[in-house]
Amino acid sequence: MKNSGTIAAANGIAKDAAFGAVTPPLYLSSNFAFREFEHEQEYEYSRTSNPTRNLLADTLAKLESGGGAIVTSSGMAAVHLVLGLLHPGERVVAPHDCYGGTHRLLAALHDKGHFEVEFVDQQNEDALAAALQLGAALVIVETPSNPLMRVSDIEAISRQAKSVGARLAVDNTFLSPALQQPIALGADLVIHSTTKYLNGHSDVVGGAVIAANSIDLENLQSWANMTGIAGSPFDSYLTLRGVRSLFLRIERQQRTAGAVADFLDQRPEISVVHYPGLATHPNHELAQRQQSGFGAMLSFELNGGIAAVRRFVAALKIFTLAESLGGIESLIAHPATMTHVGMGAEARLVAGIGEGLLRVSIGLEAEEDLLSDLASSLAAIA
Ligand code: PLP
Repeated sequence: MKNSGTIAAANGIAKDAAFGAVTPPLYLSSNFAFREFEHEQEYEYSRTSNPTRNLLADTLAKLESGGGAIVTSSGMAAVHLVLGLLHPGERVVAPHDCYGGTHRLLAALHDKGHFEVEFVDQQNEDALAAALQLGAALVIVETPSNPLMRVSDIEAISRQAKSVGARLAVDNTFLSPALQQPIALGADLVIHSTTKYLNGHSDVVGGAVIAANSIDLENLQSWANMTGIAGSPFDSYLTLRGVRSLFLRIERQQRTAGAVADFLDQRPEISVVHYPGLATHPNHELAQRQQSGFGAMLSFELNGGIAAVRRFVAALKIFTLAESLGGIESLIAHPATMTHVGMGAEARLVAGIGEGLLRVSIGLEAEEDLLSDLASSLAAIA
């Protein structure tokens, strides 16, 4: 199987040796019988290894062109797993506008003395170079960034990271392997909140780390087993079911997102739309080169501050005010009071996350219904 769409749809299909089940079975069992005294079979205990979770890991590793993957119980567990590679005194360089939960975890582990952390504007090559000059063991990139949709140059950052001997981990949650391949661009590790596009149905919280090389993979597998952060077989089963339609979903979602971005961009109530697909987006050309699509996430600044935000979200009928993203339903979030509240007001200010900023995840509803919902809600704030 060479085509990624085929891997997503067909990896592991019709391989059941017991009954010829077309859909790979769900193995919920926590443990597996030994063949005989002192001789285990292929599987022993599900914290360490489980056939259903392994099939999801194998599919994700193939989709990201990695050497292997570890499926975790959440996206944050995946971030934490990667941070477990670090030793006290080593330095992590992370984007100043990363996902609020990642920011909070990095800051908390730094405060406990686990490692040093430097938050920088990774769009600024000089600032990144200056941070790397201090020495770094790990660079984390999140592109496009959450919630401002800023696109970082993975290839260039990978070169910079390698020049100081740092590993590069890319959080590919916002695009999924369907639209971006960080390992091919030089990443050592890819992080996912599979809660988002990979599962795609907003009914699982999960995560994954894909490693480019076998040494990192073995280290991560061993650490994941020691700490017990593996995803459950049932969640893995559901996530693999979601992955089957990943390419179709994202294709349709990003087409609608493009139309929504164009619509919002024309509206006088909105000062700026952050969507890399817009020709006016500062990283439009980089996104065109680095990604195979612009994705289905966007954010925009509503004029009129928090009062306008309140009226606008109250008027929406199809978009649901909720955290998370990447599901089949369209969502709207207010980062300053929701996803990025844990980061603190000062860090939000530095990252450029203001009170009028709204983030949208486009689902599978008809484009005309979404546009009409947005138009009538914008009319309601006047
Ligand atoms: N990374 C990004 C970019 C995210 O948006 C999120 C969650 O929103 C996470 C990581 C954390 O994932 P989870 O909520 O599955 O723990």
